[in-house]
Amino acid sequence: MRASRMNLWTLREDPAEAEIASHRLLTRAGYLHKSGAGLYLYGPLLHRVIGKIQAIVSQEIDRTGALQVTMPILQEQAVWERSGRWATYQASRTMLTVKDRNDQVFGLAPTAEEVVTDYAGAVVKSYKQLPVTFYQQHTKFRDEIRPRFGLMRVKEFIMMDAYSFHATAESLDQTYEAMRVAYHRLFARMGLQAFAVEADSGAIGGSGSHEFMVAAAIGEDTILYHPESGYGANRERARGGIPAAPAWATAPAACTKVLTPKVGAIDEVMGFLTANGFAGVQAAHGLKCVLFVAGGQDDKGKPLTATVAAFTRGDREVNEVKLTNAVTRLMFPVLNLRPMHPDEVRAATGAEPGFAGPGAGLKVEVCLIEEQLKGVGPLVAGANETDHHLVGFVIERDAGVAYQWADLTSAAAGDACPLSGKPLMERRGIEVGHIFKLGTKYSASMQCVFTGADGKLHPFIMGCYGIGSSRVAAAAVEQHHDADGLRWPMSIAPYQVVVVPAGKPDDAAVNGAAEQIHKDLLAAGIEAILDDRDAKPGVKFKDWDLVGIPLRIVCGRGIANGLVEFKPRGGTVAEIPVAEAAPRAIAAVREALAALDAAADAVR
Ligand code: ATP
Ligand code: MG
Repeated sequence: MRASRMNLWTLREDPAEAEIASHRLLTRAGYLHKSGAGLYLYGPLLHRVIGKIQAIVSQEIDRTGALQVTMPILQEQAVWERSGRWATYQASRTMLTVKDRNDQVFGLAPTAEEVVTDYAGAVVKSYKQLPVTFYQQHTKFRDEIRPRFGLMRVKEFIMMDAYSFHATAESLDQTYEAMRVAYHRLFARMGLQAFAVEADSGAIGGSGSHEFMVAAAIGEDTILYHPESGYGANRERARGGIPAAPAWATAPAACTKVLTPKVGAIDEVMGFLTANGFAGVQAAHGLKCVLFVAGGQDDKGKPLTATVAAFTRGDREVNEVKLTNAVTRLMFPVLNLRPMHPDEVRAATGAEPGFAGPGAGLKVEVCLIEEQLKGVGPLVAGANETDHHLVGFVIERDAGVAYQWADLTSAAAGDACPLSGKPLMERRGIEVGHIFKLGTKYSASMQCVFTGADGKLHPFIMGCYGIGSSRVAAAAVEQHHDADGLRWPMSIAPYQVVVVPAGKPDDAAVNGAAEQIHKDLLAAGIEAILDDRDAKPGVKFKDWDLVGIPLRIVCGRGIANGLVEFKPRGGTVAEIPVAEAAPRAIAAVREALAALDAAADAVR
């Protein structure tokens, strides 16, 4: 490839709206063009990078025995109604919809469980065809609330989505494990350090799930983990042992109602109590209450609501994902949770906001209390009476409403690791992939069945697996860049080697040597660029550092002595004989690729 024909387009300045390295550098180096708000055109260089990412993904997913297909992006409302998810996705406004000329409404694929389950129902009839996995690499649309960070969170992106079908739970476990290994292998081949953490199953639903994360300070996910025990989980899901609060009193025989005028927030209440005879009491001795209305729908689309009170320790936060899951288990699939309006709070507690407690007088349909508060006390709870709290509250003794224990609290750094008991640590990550055990959620609701060995019809047991191929490109940049620009791992670089003639424009010896090296590289199957542009060497070097080509060969003054410069991106310059330039670069490319393959082979 000749640089003069590449339509290279680099910017000296960072684009104003780019907050993170990948967005900034991909734009500056000409990979990414903003084509509208949150809409991007992948330029020729990015097209090559994403093509390589997709090729590696396909090779590794193929190794699991999965079959690649292409599903429509335009998906009929009817197929989504069969699973009941049309309503869910409309309620959360995640799905973009379009109308055709006959006013028929279609969804633009945010994911494809419905379409693929319908397909399996049509083409898989017998247990003898199972297990089978179908996958694609195709465009997805999601009407994200906050598209940002360039390719990281967009309304239109490329996803590898795979769906496995099984006759037994053991068979699903095997494919899930094969996918886990395939994911680790494919990220290793891309030179990406990714790790798996336990995840919430979210709107897709199901029983078990893991997310693959790339560690990055700008990551939108918070991960709690312990390096020795191997425990890792997204904060939405993590279970951390809450450290015990210092004792402040022994439980009295009964709790007392205390006038706490005009103090509602936990810290104010504790400050007031401390100043009024309850020395040593602190936020961790309080019961924090959040009051919500959960919304959902019945089978016929009729709205359902439930009033919910959730309690956790005063110094901690209720985790809305856990709360949603808990209410879903007890009541109906929760589509949204909204805080109660002040009037609803008054109706539920008989008091102004700020005085809710699980004692007498609380009127809600669901009352949940953090399970780690079992046997903990005495506590301070709202009295369901304006300006009053109950001090010396013991949940098991004093609750005045039917309640359930639940895992409700967001884990925090310092909580006890569920595996080792040691303090959990926290870091940020970018979710690049996700694997789920779905069970029969879709096949049962959509009545997609196969004939089992027993001659009876059974719904498929399913798994699903996603990788954001375009987000992976951005994550790779977050992990591989420096002050000068991108530093692509060899396997996903748009080109592997650039040969730069750096003499006078008409220096035949320099130009001839560069042409020959370029030719030799191409002949060996190396993706090489010859920088034949009419530009100063300094400008060329800056461009290639920014674009992030892994190896650079410079033919300059040294040619007179038979020497050229060989430089890995970010490494040091070596002067080598001109005849060694191509062989050395060819070997370096192959070694780099082999090292990445070896890292994949080391995955267990
Ligand atoms: P997130 O929590 O980041 O919104 P998700 O959990 O909704 O993602 P999945 O449904 O698990 O995403 O989709 C599989 C993969 O698709 C994700 O792991 C991610 O890599 C990618 N992905 C999801 N949403 C986007 C988006 N808006 N832009 C780019 N990639 C995305
Ligand atoms: Mg996910």
